[in-house]
Amino acid sequence: MSRVYNFSAGPAVLPEEVLEECATEMLDYKGSGMSVMEMSHRSSWFQDIIDAAEADLRSLMGIPENYRVLFLQGGDSLLFSSVFMNLATNGKADYIITGNWAKKAYQEAKILGDPAVVASSEDATYTYIPDCSDLPIREDASYVYICQNNTIYGTRYHELPNTKGHILVADQSSMFLSEPCDVTKFGLIHAGVQKNVGPAGVQVVIVREDLIPQDLPGVPTMLRFKTQADKGSLYNTPNCWGIYVCGLVFKWIARNGGLAGMKAQNEEKAALLYDYLDESELFHGTVRACDRSTSNAPFVTGNKDLDAEFVKAATAAGLVNLKGHRTVGGMRASMYNAMPKAGVEKLVDFMKDFEVSHK
Ligand SMILES: *Cc1c(COP(=O)(O)O)cnc(C)c1O
Repeated sequence: MSRVYNFSAGPAVLPEEVLEECATEMLDYKGSGMSVMEMSHRSSWFQDIIDAAEADLRSLMGIPENYRVLFLQGGDSLLFSSVFMNLATNGKADYIITGNWAKKAYQEAKILGDPAVVASSEDATYTYIPDCSDLPIREDASYVYICQNNTIYGTRYHELPNTKGHILVADQSSMFLSEPCDVTKFGLIHAGVQKNVGPAGVQVVIVREDLIPQDLPGVPTMLRFKTQADKGSLYNTPNCWGIYVCGLVFKWIARNGGLAGMKAQNEEKAALLYDYLDESELFHGTVRACDRSTSNAPFVTGNKDLDAEFVKAATAAGLVNLKGHRTVGGMRASMYNAMPKAGVEKLVDFMKDFEVSHK
């Protein structure tokens, strides 16, 4: 067996320890005689799995009692619609556009109602986070929406926007559980787990209970948050396997210092790469330094052919999925919780050697 260092933005690297646990329990989950993929979602085996996953997530994030945790399907891309349907009760919500995902969320809302853009960094290809201290938020906006970490462009909010008393809704997909989070600052948090927490096919929604509408005429059953909130995310068949793996990852995070431990390790890894990018004469970061993401770091040489040569050579050295998103070009290194420090060290060493040999 030979494992690579996988810098993919998602689906992404998972902790080796967790993969080994999955392998050990694959044929016979704790004496059930079957794998988690084969068991009924109505079985007590699975009820224990989903209950433990929720309890462990609540404890990691310190989620208050008055917030509900939902494990859903359909991608964040479906949540772009369902969040608006459930929370924009008057059809109005305000969006800050800092990248593709925030823009997609806005575009879905546009199909359904009357969203507004209150700030955007599209003018500079999303290379910065706009000043959000005094935005023209509409009096009657139901919420202010952000994508807190921009997976593609490699920026993040280091300070949350001033919502002027409005509810804040955040897509946290590519930073979920990468650092401590004060849940009370948000009305709703959503995150696809395939970036930092588990296999693709599960979205975690953390929503303040009083924001879940009791009655939503004209909205399909599966798109009402109340449906899954009332049934403990078991209204229909959930992604049992995905929830199980997320649960193992929650325990892995708890064993490794919790969210404070993740933050310390993630900042250390990011600093290794960014410090080198700042001193390199060949490689350059693509975003404003003060808005840099800890999870996703795009960089370029400024020469497309050289970028391609670098990606190819890195792949051959076991540093894979470094090709940048098609809208940014160049390279992108995603350094999620499960990326070991040794992986980033190897990447930086490789970049240094590449720089010396391409001077
Ligand atoms: C990956 C990603 C998404 C996409 O989610 P899907 O599950 O593919 O619909 C949405 N938002 C952010 C911030 C992401 O990183």
